[in-house]
Amino acid sequence: MTESADLAPIREAVRALCADFPGEYWRALDRERAYPEKFVAALTKAGFLAALIPEEFGGSGLNMNAAAAIMEEIQACGCNGAACHAQMYTMGTLLRHGSAEQKAHYLPGIARGELRLQAFGVTEPTSGTDTLALRTTAVRDGDAYVINGQKIWTSRAEHSDLMLLLARTTPREQAAKRTGGLTVFLIDMRAVKGLTVWPIRTMMNHATTEIFFENMRVPAAAVIGQEGEGFRYILSGMNAERILIGAECIGDAKWFIGKAAAYAGERVVFGRPIGQNQGVQFPIARAYIGMRAAELMVREAATLYEAGKECGAEANMAKHLAAEASWAAADMCVQTHGGFGFAEEFDIERKFRETRLYTVAPISTNLVLSYIAEHVLGLPRSY
Ligand SMILES: Cc1cc2nc3c(=O)[nH]c(=O)nc-3n(C[C@H](O)[C@H](O)[C@H](O)COP(=O)(O)OP(=O)(O)OC[C@H]3O[C@@H](n4cnc5c(N)ncnc54)[C@H](O)[C@@H]3O)c2cc1C
Repeated sequence: MTESADLAPIREAVRALCADFPGEYWRALDRERAYPEKFVAALTKAGFLAALIPEEFGGSGLNMNAAAAIMEEIQACGCNGAACHAQMYTMGTLLRHGSAEQKAHYLPGIARGELRLQAFGVTEPTSGTDTLALRTTAVRDGDAYVINGQKIWTSRAEHSDLMLLLARTTPREQAAKRTGGLTVFLIDMRAVKGLTVWPIRTMMNHATTEIFFENMRVPAAAVIGQEGEGFRYILSGMNAERILIGAECIGDAKWFIGKAAAYAGERVVFGRPIGQNQGVQFPIARAYIGMRAAELMVREAATLYEAGKECGAEANMAKHLAAEASWAAADMCVQTHGGFGFAEEFDIERKFRETRLYTVAPISTNLVLSYIAEHVLGLPRSY
């Protein structure tokens, strides 16, 4: 599956932008766990984060393959799109399920980058992967809802104006169906009281947080779509997230493989380049093969997605294969560099830490395997 030639100028433009953000930039931020403001501002100004917003709302109206190419290229240049990737896809829930008023009110500002919608509050400390067990409640009170509870791993909340929040509006035992009773809210975090955000320091620079809601009142107009249908809306956005994160992993894998091949060609030990040894070159070749296979699945999923076809299995498999490929390439790259793989100035240890996330989030490997077992192979549901 070869890529459309139309994407070459997009890739080139992303590479040109990323050239202004070399390893030193990311290393300095990593040390401080600081947010890459300048990088995100540059991507926003260039319109890359509005790729998937239709032109009628001020976005570029590009397709999923183009959006994937943008995210892949960012990672392949050694940059870290995790700081802002959600700005590209979180608005999908609003786009697909929001009212005409909500779309007209928010999407143009999001497209211009004046409004940042990159906080996505689903995971909770006690429920984890079991989203239907979440405990944050939203109780109707006149023309408002009162929200109480807690989220964890709500990334970029400190760098977002809006948050997409999933909360329970009907107690689980009273919901008409197993997946009912959850509602999606689009919250203007600048306008509410009773919201506390605590940063969580992690092994990589990820700007993630935990959030507490204490009698937080939001207008009823903050509900996206119908009350009680939120789980379905959130699920419908997950294919885009998986495809784009898969593309980021492909970019990471390309970066690791490029670094390793270059180093193996120039590093001389025992009087010859280390890459002349099959023990060094085969792992690089193996990582390349894994990356290419995963890349094909990412493209297949993106192509199905943009054709409006069902792509749950492909999006899951793409994210799974790509996350495994980037992690395998990261491990290989450290091994190829020997001791230098651990030195900060080579950026490998930083990228190694960053790419490790993707077999766990946004969905962990086991849950992808469960999905395929149940929905593709027809095996009994395991949870
Ligand atoms: C840096 C970071 C950023 C994140 N950003 C966000 C965000 O912006 N918004 C958000 O909502 N969430 C976010 N997450 C949460 C992320 O999606 C979850 O961490 C992930 O889905 C796993 O959930 P958990 O950590 O609660 O693990 P758990 O659900 O506790 O699972 C722990 C382990 O058990 C396995 N497991 C659990 N149940 C089963 C089963 N039935 N069968 C087989 N294996 C099982 C899992 O696969 C996993 O390996 C982020 C997480 C991290 C670490």
